[in-house]
Amino acid sequence: MDLVELTSEMSLKENTGATKTKREDYIDWKEYFMAIAFLAAKRSKDPCYQVGACIVNKENKIVGIGYNGMPIGCSDDEFPWAKNTPSPLDSKTLYVCHAEMNAILNKNSADVKNCTIYVGLFPCNECAKIIIQSGISEVVYLAHKGWDKPKYAASKIMFEAAGVKYWQFIPKREKIEICFTSVTSNSL
Ligand SMILES: [Zn+2]
Repeated sequence: MDLVELTSEMSLKENTGATKTKREDYIDWKEYFMAIAFLAAKRSKDPCYQVGACIVNKENKIVGIGYNGMPIGCSDDEFPWAKNTPSPLDSKTLYVCHAEMNAILNKNSADVKNCTIYVGLFPCNECAKIIIQSGISEVVYLAHKGWDKPKYAASKIMFEAAGVKYWQFIPKREKIEICFTSVTSNSL
């Protein structure tokens, strides 16, 4: 069998799937859960920060997803999205529910004890309290807004006191693309 025949036989096998082995560029669990958090963030109406969170149990099953938004019944169109306004009542700060809070409250399991929360930004002190009280034992964040800010320093202090592990996820790739036409392409 010469090289040309061998090559054509190999490509035939590839086309029929006979020699196909496992894909190698699949995303791992951590990328998957962080990407779910980022996908959820795309639902956010906040013009400045879109943050998502994804809670996962010890069996790698997702038990809660959330993103930052106004409370139920508080219209996205009527409540303010501005920050640092002369009157605090005109600022989003007093109203917006953060992604972590929503993910915990949206849980589809009895509780989130010993779960891991994946979140785009390191949690603020208010979310840290809710994370600790809910029993979540691990926080995986992608970015943080500076440790010098008291609300993030307070989160660290509380996590360390409560034994909640936290670490930064460093992505292996810059982006993960979703293509809705991929299921009908020739990759199947
Ligand atoms: Zn928060």
